[in-house]
Amino acid sequence: MSKIIRVNMTQKEVKFEEVADKYASLGGRALTSQIIAGEVPPTCDALGPFNKLVIAPGLLTGTSAPSSGRLSVGGKSPLTGGIKEANAGGITSQKLANLGIKAIIIEGKPTDQEFSMLKITPDGVEILPAGDLAGKGTYEVTSLCRRRYGDKVAVITIGPAGEMLMPSAGVTNNDSDGNSSRYAGRGGLGAVMGSKGLKAIVVDCPKTFDAPVADPERFKAAAKKFAKILLDHPVCGQGLPSYGTNVLMNIINEAGTLPTRNFRFGRFDKAAEVSGEKLAEVATARGGKATHACHPGCVMRCSNVYPMPDGKVCAPIEYETAWCFGPNLEIGDLDVVAKLNYICNDVGLDTIEAGCTLGVLMEAGVIPFGDGRAAIAALEEVAKGTPLGRVTGGGATGAGKLYGVTRGPAVKGQGIPAYDPRSCKGNGVTYATTPMGADHTAGYAVTANILNVGGTVDPTKKEGQVELSRNLQVATA
Ligand code: SF4
Repeated sequence: MSKIIRVNMTQKEVKFEEVADKYASLGGRALTSQIIAGEVPPTCDALGPFNKLVIAPGLLTGTSAPSSGRLSVGGKSPLTGGIKEANAGGITSQKLANLGIKAIIIEGKPTDQEFSMLKITPDGVEILPAGDLAGKGTYEVTSLCRRRYGDKVAVITIGPAGEMLMPSAGVTNNDSDGNSSRYAGRGGLGAVMGSKGLKAIVVDCPKTFDAPVADPERFKAAAKKFAKILLDHPVCGQGLPSYGTNVLMNIINEAGTLPTRNFRFGRFDKAAEVSGEKLAEVATARGGKATHACHPGCVMRCSNVYPMPDGKVCAPIEYETAWCFGPNLEIGDLDVVAKLNYICNDVGLDTIEAGCTLGVLMEAGVIPFGDGRAAIAALEEVAKGTPLGRVTGGGATGAGKLYGVTRGPAVKGQGIPAYDPRSCKGNGVTYATTPMGADHTAGYAVTANILNVGGTVDPTKKEGQVELSRNLQVATA
């Protein structure tokens, strides 16, 4: 029987609850959002005791359904002030589902300044002191936990940005190789986790695909059919498995909707230098991986492993990250993009928000456009908690207000992702109408606007955009 784990961080207590009927057929973003809508007072302080952090596997996670292992994280957002859902790949979700855990609800707030961690195993749940993990980057926390509790455990964690309650802080977990880089990045949910005094959640479960299904034979047949549908599709079966999500760089550039120089232009002359094709070439030449599955059972393998010149590995570089540190900052160097990505992963920042914030700082003249070294230096300030570091981790809207920059690419306080809403108007409708703020995943109109998937709607005209965005938002939810 699946259950909900409720953790009270004020009392430091853990309870197991039966799943209420109203939640039985929900999972992932539907479940985390319903719990937040039902339990969190809308007027509460996002970093106060009345907000809750909810973590949940998807409805099919932990089964043999292909590519079904995303992890949903929800809460009231310190960035937008509204309800927020962010989700990530990685191996944690499958482990939670195989332990029969429908959701984890973290509530309350500790009265001391000490950090704790949760340890979840088939035998139960413990709250443990985590003072020795505090202040550490996510890569170190993950490798320490995997040394301490076994190299098969999954680790959800926040970096120093989340501990310092920065509004751009995300929640990460590790992939199959132990890389702590799979982010539920958006909306500052890392700061919510930090406000609960929770540094990490270690999940130990030896099973991956054994979550119970009512009719195993029919389920297996359906999963096989679904995998074939994915693999027969040109995007899921060819584009993503060859070049990952960054296959989009050249396509979006060609469409003229690649935000460049803090959303001033729609094309970048060095887009090819930071594209998926270039990434695959460099990663392969350096002994990395052009494609990679972030968890077992993925047939699309949209992830990658990029060896950096300093010997470290950045895995993965997603399209949105390559865009926000590349064209958005006028940086045409994949090694710089990888370095910025790695710093964000380690300190615990949403890359999209960090890239939009750096764009605003460049607009303000704090950093020159195209200056990779200065961008790296600004991001390195985040872990130190210096004034520049706090501005850089504070989001594009906050940086714009501080520096008097009105060209702040954000909706409802959240930085706009890698599709210009003026030339991909369906996405513009999504950014404007979803409660999530500028979130391309809430209703991805790039499908019919640019990719001609599920129909064709002219991206530059108003006609058809409302229906397209609304239908996609309903389908996604
Ligand atoms: S590798 Fe990509 S497609 Fe596969 S599960 Fe991870 S995020 Fe999804």
